[in-house]
Amino acid sequence: MTAIKNVLIVGGGTAGWLTAGFLARTLGTGGHGSVVITVVESSDIGIIGVGEGTFPSIRGTLSTLGIDEATFVRECSATFKQGIQFVDWVRPPDAPGKSEYFHPFSQPSQRPGGPELLPYWLLGMAGKDAAFAEAATMQKRVADARHGPKRLTDGDYLGAMNYAYHFDAGKFASLLARHAKSLGVQHRIATVERVTLDASGAIAAVVTAELGTLHADLYVDCTGFRAELIGKALGSPFHSIKDSLFVDRALAMQVPYPTADAPIASYTISTAHEAGWTWDIGLQERRGVGYVYSSQHTDDTRAEEVLRAYIGQACADLTPRALKLDLGYREVHWIKNCVAVGLSGGFIEPLEASGIGLIETAAYLLSFLFPADGNTEPVARHFNHFMRQRYERVVDFVKMHYCLTQRTDHAFWRDNTNASSISDTLREQLSMWRCRPPHRLDFVTDLEMYPPSSWQYVLYGMEFKTDLSHARGAYPRMDDARKEFAMIQAMGQRAVADLPTHRALVEKMRAR
Ligand SMILES: Cc1cc2nc3c(=O)[nH]c(=O)nc-3n(C[C@H](O)[C@H](O)[C@H](O)COP(=O)(O)OP(=O)(O)OC[C@H]3O[C@@H](n4cnc5c(N)ncnc54)[C@H](O)[C@@H]3O)c2cc1C
Repeated sequence: MTAIKNVLIVGGGTAGWLTAGFLARTLGTGGHGSVVITVVESSDIGIIGVGEGTFPSIRGTLSTLGIDEATFVRECSATFKQGIQFVDWVRPPDAPGKSEYFHPFSQPSQRPGGPELLPYWLLGMAGKDAAFAEAATMQKRVADARHGPKRLTDGDYLGAMNYAYHFDAGKFASLLARHAKSLGVQHRIATVERVTLDASGAIAAVVTAELGTLHADLYVDCTGFRAELIGKALGSPFHSIKDSLFVDRALAMQVPYPTADAPIASYTISTAHEAGWTWDIGLQERRGVGYVYSSQHTDDTRAEEVLRAYIGQACADLTPRALKLDLGYREVHWIKNCVAVGLSGGFIEPLEASGIGLIETAAYLLSFLFPADGNTEPVARHFNHFMRQRYERVVDFVKMHYCLTQRTDHAFWRDNTNASSISDTLREQLSMWRCRPPHRLDFVTDLEMYPPSSWQYVLYGMEFKTDLSHARGAYPRMDDARKEFAMIQAMGQRAVADLPTHRALVEKMRAR
């Protein structure tokens, strides 16, 4: 067993630099006994350059890294994301009935001593037509008014509403790189051409054209979809999820705003179409818009028509960037002296922005479980168990958006409700939630990326039915609940008045 003194991270995208920063911050790079952390990246192979939506965990990550919020907002064209607006997921646009719902990041309101609101919402105490997310939090009202989640006087990463960000992926990787280097991370430019293994099957070295052979005690594979180390060299099997989540292509465009002071949406807009869905993300100077679709259910020409019809005239002179997606994850993320972080470890389509969240988890785990003495085996087992479960739970959460649809207008949606495409765990949970709402005890919090409230917002946004008629007696606080719902509405109005518009918040933070 050799102590780990040298860590080589191969790849300089979000995964590589975020892992480098996390390791540098938690292990230190300068003093006696500290670890040398090096990022080697190819100048010929770019980063994927998409990945503009995040989850609120990103605030903790940026704060741990020691990046101040105004610098981040300024340098990454960042804006504030308060949730996701889902359009046409329940039914097609021409069907009667409401076709939108919101997944906010703020938890349902629950004051000390107050009733838990969800059962009372199910029993109709918020009114007949109020959506759960609108009845239980103020966030929808704030975001619909295009106001931001925080006041300028709030401290870094703090706000009245829970929030994440939208940002420019290329600028984000550059900021992370500059910051990690300021923490003492070494940076080398070279393309890994070959990986050599020792007699035990561990990585002995990586061989580059520019710098020759590079050795380390621990190798982190952040080479994106190429998975040069964990996949090609070590052969960790790839667990495909294409039988459950069908999208496998994306077209992306960067769309300018009509005017420099156009309002910026403070949520991602996810609109369902005939064979997939579009993301629409408002950054400071442009929108990032893309169509993720299934090649089994449409072709590339039709997909481009759908994307262009969604964007309209603003994309007349734009050419989309095309990407192929291979959805799934490594069955084993850590083998001997090699750990996969980022796309090399897996990718579960962009819905609900799990990509960067899973990088944060892996970087966090690696840093805090770091086997400095070289005893990697137990840590690897723990890491593998943890990451696999996280991936499985994210797949179920994402699949829930699709399989609860009432759309039958295209084969893509009909196939998504086919029981054979839904995991046993998700089917079992949905069956339990027919007679009681999801409870926090349904979830092992540390293994979940999405909190119970996210499951609840999506479940009931998709018009899932939980029948509590048999259990009315268990909910005696009807009047209290009615008052809570009324108070949330009143406070929502005040919150809109108190919080700056989203664009004003962004401009002022940029100017700091
Ligand atoms: C269409 C799409 C939309 C997405 N949207 C979101 C989103 O909204 N939110 C979200 O959280 N995630 C999203 N993701 C996922 C997100 O883009 C990635 O998780 C994130 O960018 C991390 O990528 P990465 O660093 O693993 O890989 P990459 O960005 O591909 O970086 C790979 C790095 O490895 C280097 N490299 C590769 N091979 C070699 C070699 N042989 N030698 C040396 N260096 C090498 C490259 O130079 C590069 O620096 C999306 C992904 C796709 C495809």
